[in-house]
Amino acid sequence: SIPLSFFGGIGGASKRGILVKGGNFLEALKNVETIVFDKTGTLTEGVFRLQSLHPANGFDEASLLGTAAQAERHSTHPIARSIVQAFGADVGQEKGEVEELAGFGVKARFEGKEVLVGNYALLEKEGITASPQESEQSVVYVAVNGVYAGALCIADTLKRESIEAIQALKELGITRLVMLTGDREEVARVQAQKLGITEVYAGLLPHQKVEKLESLLGQGKVAFVGDGINDAPVLARADVGIAMGGVGSDAAIEASDVVIMDDNLGKIPIAIALARKTHRIVW
Ligand code: ADP
Ligand code: MG
Repeated sequence: SIPLSFFGGIGGASKRGILVKGGNFLEALKNVETIVFDKTGTLTEGVFRLQSLHPANGFDEASLLGTAAQAERHSTHPIARSIVQAFGADVGQEKGEVEELAGFGVKARFEGKEVLVGNYALLEKEGITASPQESEQSVVYVAVNGVYAGALCIADTLKRESIEAIQALKELGITRLVMLTGDREEVARVQAQKLGITEVYAGLLPHQKVEKLESLLGQGKVAFVGDGINDAPVLARADVGIAMGGVGSDAAIEASDVVIMDDNLGKIPIAIALARKTHRIVW
């Protein structure tokens, strides 16, 4: 038996820039009851802008930013790219030694220094005392040779279409909308509230995102929407993994079941509506 109209459904979706990797996923999309979103780069632009610098222990603003930018020069994380961008000047090509610590930040060695750039948990883990910044923005902490060097406050903005896309999903009857993030609770809550998302899990390490998603499986189909930076394992675990194609990594596109080619979240309610219209004709 050939469910012929599935080709129509998939073809119709692909004309709208939505790639569905097979009829099973179209069927699953139709039955989605929960949608879980990664925050950074998915609901938000993933483009941070430097808001303020808070140097400490003999560092000044320029040396704090310069050191952070040099440590982050080889990282593809949106936070890293924003710091290099804010520095503006040439960060040099010297390879040095860099360890990317998923969910924490980076540890880099160059010019005889060891530099940590990342969240508060990274400095805690390395036994460094830092003064926590009171902020509704994301905060990046820096340490040099085991000494706290200061913090950078950075802010990301919601994608223009996020609020409408969430509204459209609610109108389709999908009421369980969830946000997962490695970012701080305070930042996530402010953004979730603007979006109309009430279920938020923040401060999660990559493996905790997978565990949280697993705990949500079971009642109806669960979709996960991510941009692929650190979240390929979560995409793979969901009933329907939806990846952003434009910024997403190859690993994410491979791990996903549906790819939104232009990263527009408004395509998700469209995909679900199309899936519901696609009737299975079997003969
Ligand atoms: P999310 O995409 O949900 O923010 P990530 O796992 O990518 O989750 O990152 C979690 C947190 O780890 C970030 O909010 C940031 O605090 C920190 N982090 C990760 N990578 C970097 C990096 N390269 N530079 C600075 N901080 C980072
Ligand atoms: Mg992310």
